[in-house]
Amino acid sequence: MIDFLRKIFGLSSGKPASKPEKGGVSPGPGQMPVILQADEHRIDPRLVSKNAVRVVTILQQAGYAAFIVGGAVRDLMLGEKPKDFDVATDATPEQVRRLFRRAFLIGRRFQIVHVRMGRDDLFEVTTFRGNSQKPAEVDDSGRLLSDNTFGTQAEDAARRDFTINALYYNPTDQTLLDYHQGIHDLGTKTLRIIGDAEQRYREDPVRMLRVVRFAAKLGFTLDSATSAPIHQLCHLLDNIPPARLFDETLKLLMSGHAMSCLNELRTYDLHGRLLPLLDEALSNPKAACFIETALARTDQRINDGRTVSPGFLFAVLLWKEVETQWEAFQAKGEYPIPALVAAANAVLDRQTETLAIQRRIAADMKDIWLLQPRLERRSGKSVFRILENPHFRAAYDFLLIRCETGDLDAETGEWWKAFAAGSAEERQSLLESLSKRAADNSRSRKRRRRRKRSPSSGEGTAEAPAPGMTAPSN
Ligand code: ATP
Ligand code: MG
Repeated sequence: MIDFLRKIFGLSSGKPASKPEKGGVSPGPGQMPVILQADEHRIDPRLVSKNAVRVVTILQQAGYAAFIVGGAVRDLMLGEKPKDFDVATDATPEQVRRLFRRAFLIGRRFQIVHVRMGRDDLFEVTTFRGNSQKPAEVDDSGRLLSDNTFGTQAEDAARRDFTINALYYNPTDQTLLDYHQGIHDLGTKTLRIIGDAEQRYREDPVRMLRVVRFAAKLGFTLDSATSAPIHQLCHLLDNIPPARLFDETLKLLMSGHAMSCLNELRTYDLHGRLLPLLDEALSNPKAACFIETALARTDQRINDGRTVSPGFLFAVLLWKEVETQWEAFQAKGEYPIPALVAAANAVLDRQTETLAIQRRIAADMKDIWLLQPRLERRSGKSVFRILENPHFRAAYDFLLIRCETGDLDAETGEWWKAFAAGSAEERQSLLESLSKRAADNSRSRKRRRRRKRSPSSGEGTAEAPAPGMTAPSN
């Protein structure tokens, strides 16, 4: 598809929407779209959601302009099936709402309409945004505080973040409108912000995180003017509400390219605001290996269309810090389990200062962490209770990655794999083999103790108890 895009932008097959006004005044950049026909853009209509087309058609039949817009068009141009479809229209949110039975107005800063169509399709319908007549309301750093003005399609295109995200597709006549040479940038795999980069980042610093996500996800290169101001502006993320930062971080981690996103974040020094504990974790080779393995597994799941729990992802990123604190609390004399609870709380508290991890997700993370020593111990009755725990699967996946990366002995992982998949009899025999081994260990420990007391005897090989399960040192 990219080769094809290179070809079409090279031939500049598209044509401007209309001629300049009489009097010869040419419209400014971004005022007139280049329009591509179906045989030029070659979007595969089979990749377009039928329900999205229905939403657009209903709006158009009511006399409004309506287009599929944003990431969906970008993905269609790249030959990929979009994960969601956004619609842009010149109908006001209230006019949109009246056209659909299941439509809900949401948002305060800029009202949008959520339209439900079919069994579980949800579409975001936005009214073209415009440039306010009065100067935009911004805070001291230039951040837009209100942008609730409607406008023309050209104005709407100029308000979008990147050229490749400012493409409009009309499924009815299959035309594609390109206001900012997005097709050209798709062809050259370039991520280019629309307008003055510094001003656009100041208006909304989250755009710096979006740059990172799209660069990692699409494998695109940042245009130099787009990347230049990021280093000096990354502190602006401090002004973003922690809940929005959390949403954006989750999008980065769930992009299917989590590790490249983290690497890009670090390249631009943006990660400190999101995951201040990450640097410490990634500078430790063992911890880095654990995170990389877990994120690669997550990417795989996402790319296979399977679900991933946000709690699992954040539990992975913060685990090494939890372990460090866990040891520290034990060194202060705390028993292992209360020490782990205290460590989990301390890490969550520190992380939540910058990133508002939702309470439900924080609870999931804590459960995954607290299940680790229980999974390691595998004591008789409790294994069946663990199996019924709603977080068993996530905690078990977490444990397997720990085994795989050498954080924990491989035998524990193998035992759990067999136990999770086993029949009732197999489970019983696995438990029996475990208690037999425990009994053997205890006998050999006693023997070793006796031998220690008599200096003439040789040395045995000690088997360590499960990590974290040792009694406090004082
Ligand atoms: P994804 O594949 O992650 O959904 P997307 O480009 O569709 O990517 P959305 O967050 O769904 O991203 O946003 C839809 C569109 O809205 C974008 O393509 C872009 O045109 C516009 N947009 C979103 N966020 C911003 C922003 N912070 N500043 C300017 N435009 C934005
Ligand atoms: Mg989208």
